[in-house]
Amino acid sequence: MSESHAGAAPGTPTRHDQHDRWPRAETVEDFRRNLAAVDARIAAACERAGRDPAEVRLLPISKTVDEARIRLAHAAGCGWLGENKVQEAQRKWEAMADLTDLRWSIVGHLQTNKAKAVARFAAEFQALDSLRVAEALDRRLQAEGRALDVFVQVNTSGEASKYGLAPEAVAAFVQALPAYAALRVRGLMTLAVFSAEAARVRACFVRLRTLRDRLRQQTPAGIGLDALSMGMSGDYEIAIEEGATVVRVGQAIFGARSTPDAHYWPTGGAVEPDA
Ligand SMILES: *Cc1c(COP(=O)(O)O)cnc(C)c1O
Repeated sequence: MSESHAGAAPGTPTRHDQHDRWPRAETVEDFRRNLAAVDARIAAACERAGRDPAEVRLLPISKTVDEARIRLAHAAGCGWLGENKVQEAQRKWEAMADLTDLRWSIVGHLQTNKAKAVARFAAEFQALDSLRVAEALDRRLQAEGRALDVFVQVNTSGEASKYGLAPEAVAAFVQALPAYAALRVRGLMTLAVFSAEAARVRACFVRLRTLRDRLRQQTPAGIGLDALSMGMSGDYEIAIEEGATVVRVGQAIFGARSTPDAHYWPTGGAVEPDA
């Protein structure tokens, strides 16, 4: 199936140059409208790629968003929330323990001293990129009697500053993961290069899909590599055209964020100009 995505709709632009234009949601109605707009774009991208929209999970990313607005998003239908930083996520999880159907996904780099917190409350961890973190998480999860869905983060842009494993290191890494029985490996995750130049963004997504397709044939028993978490507010439509099964969308749902992305992952700063 993935072959059919290759080269799909090469004209789809990124929207990385429009980040200040996403409308801020302040009411349940605003959230419903923003969610419906994202869902419609997901459906259109699936249509272009000949995919079933049911294959794509929208993961709303709520970093920097306060509790009151998160409750509105939940009322509008958000059942999953993604957070980049563990402390922020834990604070919110504790404050909203009454929303028992809400599931939390950690999508940012993890230090081993935060593994205990993740093992307690997270349903998913998308940024696994070291065996030290795998070991720490597994130990804490065993102690809690829990399991955790995980994605292996891959650096597909080749930027030295980005988190994630180099693509050529992923095969050996995945071979080591069955040792950590509490980790349910679901797939791969990446952040594309942050660029207004769609072809460079698309190349990152193609790299992740190609890697997944290759590794899927040799994964150890118990390891699933079906999922591809890729695409954010500025580029999720391109990611879907290239096979994303999870898109991580914050600003297009909650509104433009004033905290710069450099606070969450190393970046060069602004959008790279067109070449
Ligand atoms: C913030 C974040 C996103 C979402 O970015 P938006 O521009 O708000 O859509 C996706 N993935 C990760 C890892 C993030 O930290």
